[in-house]
Amino acid sequence: MSEGLLQTPFPERAGVALKDTFLQEALTIATTKFIDLRKESFAGFPAGEVLRDRARAIKEATLQHLDVHLERLADNVERLGGTVHWAATGEEAREIVLRLCRDRGVRMAVKSKSMATEEIDLNEALEHAGITTVETDLGEYIIQLAHEKPSHIIAPAIHKTKGQVAELFSRELGGRFEADPEILTAVARRVLREKFLQADLGITGANFAVADTGTVVLVTNEGNGRMVTSLPRIHVALMGIEKVIPSMSDLVVFLAILARSATGQKLSSYTTLVRGPRRAGELEGPEEFHLILLDNGRARQIASTLREALYCLRCGACLNVCPVYRQIGGHAYGYTYPGPIGILLTAMLKGNESVRELAHASSLCGACKDVCPVRIDIPRMLIELREHLDREKIAPWTERMLFRAFRRLLLSPTAFRFSARAGRWLQRPFVRAGRLRGLPLVFGSWTRTRDLPPVAARTFREQWKELR
Ligand code: SF4
Repeated sequence: MSEGLLQTPFPERAGVALKDTFLQEALTIATTKFIDLRKESFAGFPAGEVLRDRARAIKEATLQHLDVHLERLADNVERLGGTVHWAATGEEAREIVLRLCRDRGVRMAVKSKSMATEEIDLNEALEHAGITTVETDLGEYIIQLAHEKPSHIIAPAIHKTKGQVAELFSRELGGRFEADPEILTAVARRVLREKFLQADLGITGANFAVADTGTVVLVTNEGNGRMVTSLPRIHVALMGIEKVIPSMSDLVVFLAILARSATGQKLSSYTTLVRGPRRAGELEGPEEFHLILLDNGRARQIASTLREALYCLRCGACLNVCPVYRQIGGHAYGYTYPGPIGILLTAMLKGNESVRELAHASSLCGACKDVCPVRIDIPRMLIELREHLDREKIAPWTERMLFRAFRRLLLSPTAFRFSARAGRWLQRPFVRAGRLRGLPLVFGSWTRTRDLPPVAARTFREQWKELR
């Protein structure tokens, strides 16, 4: 994400997003639709809950022997004729792709949607090296034309209305296009077909990679993934090391819950299984297949409090239900990965300093944990992250002092009793219809769009018992 954007404090970025009526409209429509579709899909799938537990257990077990699974994956990909590259950092991964392009005279690359390539700013590096790079997922294509970044993990252009897309296409592609999704999709398809045929290189991410068979799995809805992996003469797949899973039977578990969580589909329209380059006698497929295994800070998190974030399937369900994301969208977060899981992934990849403000961009309501297909305990990790920021003195001193004072108050029965009494007295002007509303000063941020329960008129003994 651009340095310029990050120089604006998060509250200001969020404030701009809150005033953007187009953004608000687009976010409400899209996230509400995703929530409803997911709910409906799981309601008619009783095995879903058991499979979510199973998927979580697979992720946990895989992480315990990640090195073994990665070695097996690499051996099997090479047995199938592919080449495996290990990239410790984003810079190394970019250099691997650029070297391949240089050595093979690549002039044009087509891409299917991949958050890992966004994470390492691959498009910028390719363009800088003079290689035309074309996104072929419709949402990604839209934001590439708009010179923007994705604002949602699975719906990169979620922040745009169809009217805005029509204007963008008319301006960038020449012509006057109606704000009709079918017309706009047909326009993009016509332009992109040519690009698939011209490209020398196809770049994809990977939703999963199966260690036992050396299979790279892509889950898409538009079929562009199949074109990217079969038409250009070289295919490069870039994946975070946590995407490896042991076996095909494990893959079945993940496929059963991934699309349901993301878009409410039983399965995505296309599940593409890539097994090396084209072999003798085969009519389709690339001449070369390269798999880049990207660490970029992941391995060191296996033993950290952020470990669970490595389970993430990038389904986007936690973004759709998050009351903060639903209000401000993805760009206000300022980094590649938005939403509640994005805060944790950003801390993981960029360090705790980068989420000094973002760590508080969550109401800790727990909705993200409820919908996560692998039950990642995002609220717990956010609380632990806040604790780390405090301990590492990254959080502002005012915040640290405030929480220290609050802790003292909770630990002292006398201070607690006194403050409860004071609170009951002070809250009187703000209690309306049994709820606290319109609080003054800094507390006003809490009650601007919601209310709070008043301090209960219970005895100190009752409150103390409750606390214990
Ligand atoms: S944390 Fe869970 S819900 Fe959020 S994107 Fe990852 S897998 Fe999906």
